[in-house]
Amino acid sequence: MNEAAMRRCIERKRDGGELSAQVWSDAVTAFLDGRVDDAQMTALCMACVIRGMTFAEAHALTDAMVRSGETISFPRERGVVVDKHSSGGVGDIVTLVAVPLAAAAGARVAKLSGRALGHTGGTIDKLEAIPGFDVTLDADAFVAQVERIGCAIVAQSDAIVPADKRLYRLRDRTGTIPAMGLLASSIACKKIAGGAHAFIFDVKTGPAAFLDRVDDAFELAAWLVEISSRFGRRARAFLTGMYEPLGRTIGTGIELVEARDLLRTGKGDPHAREVAVAIASAMAEECGVADAEACVERALTNGSGYAKFCDMVEAQRGDVAAFERMRFDEGARITVASPAAGYVRAIDVVRLGNAARRLSSRDPLGGLRIEVRIGDYIERGAPLAHVYAPDRDTVATLATAFKFSETPVKPAPLILSR
Ligand code: URA
Repeated sequence: MNEAAMRRCIERKRDGGELSAQVWSDAVTAFLDGRVDDAQMTALCMACVIRGMTFAEAHALTDAMVRSGETISFPRERGVVVDKHSSGGVGDIVTLVAVPLAAAAGARVAKLSGRALGHTGGTIDKLEAIPGFDVTLDADAFVAQVERIGCAIVAQSDAIVPADKRLYRLRDRTGTIPAMGLLASSIACKKIAGGAHAFIFDVKTGPAAFLDRVDDAFELAAWLVEISSRFGRRARAFLTGMYEPLGRTIGTGIELVEARDLLRTGKGDPHAREVAVAIASAMAEECGVADAEACVERALTNGSGYAKFCDMVEAQRGDVAAFERMRFDEGARITVASPAAGYVRAIDVVRLGNAARRLSSRDPLGGLRIEVRIGDYIERGAPLAHVYAPDRDTVATLATAFKFSETPVKPAPLILSR
């Protein structure tokens, strides 16, 4: 495909047309080898955001991206290997908690993770807060680690779905994230190329999700399951709410500390705990673990999930002692006080996610700790949030991210569908 042909594709999509599987394949190849530049690919993505994509296009784009690089495979005869993926959350520590819990319960977990996207966090950025932690295992090392300790979390390398790696960065910079077909293909191609036999998708809905309408999130979940099955993989999806941050912290290292403490003590924020246990249990079930939820609960309370996380840190050359010592700098935090008394009615999670992304880009232990949940009653002057590694500009605007009501507020459900 040359520049003129790509222009015709952009115009076709701009006018609401459908592109064939061959065109998607050619566009991805031309993007990777430089015949299509970032400007043209951005225009195509923006046309997809505005005009939408059909399921057939999402399937074709997934296929083209999987074929853009190497794929990993796990021998089936040794048992099912599972992976999970979130469609993008804020304060979303589920992967960090669920992967070691599922592995400690007997699952084999091969997790290919992403970096921050838009206002949402990325597991890879969180893991890189551990000194030395290597997120770039090659395929052989990835497979060997899953066989040896039961889990590994790695970033997509240049060799695996390179087209998604480039497109993901481009979409992050150009406001072209929220198109159902782009989301579905970006998520599904990584899972398929990562080699697991079964996937658990955590599709977020609500104002801080990339698709805020519940119906759209439902459709994304259905597309992900259907695309997976066309590639011969089993898949299940959860629909979870993104009306407020999932856990209590937002950032990179700061979320890692929250996840570590939940794994270490079995105690922590009930929302994060509930979703992590539900997803870890589904992962373990896919691997044939009997009484999966009880096994996952046990792994959370007897410390074996935490031990599994430390095994993974060590296997990926992370400094376990430094990881165990990580803590928030309570001396250098600034507290955001509530400007009003009342019930917390809404939280602008996108604003908090963007602020935390800024703070943690300067300091891995920078970010936010949120002190209230939707529905909580708060007195004027009481803490709404603490800001770590703060800067004055960020702090000044944060209080307005919280909205109050004089009458009690009922929070939305956390897990809308399984
Ligand atoms: N996660 C991904 O891997 N891709 C997206 O586009 C969104 C979330």
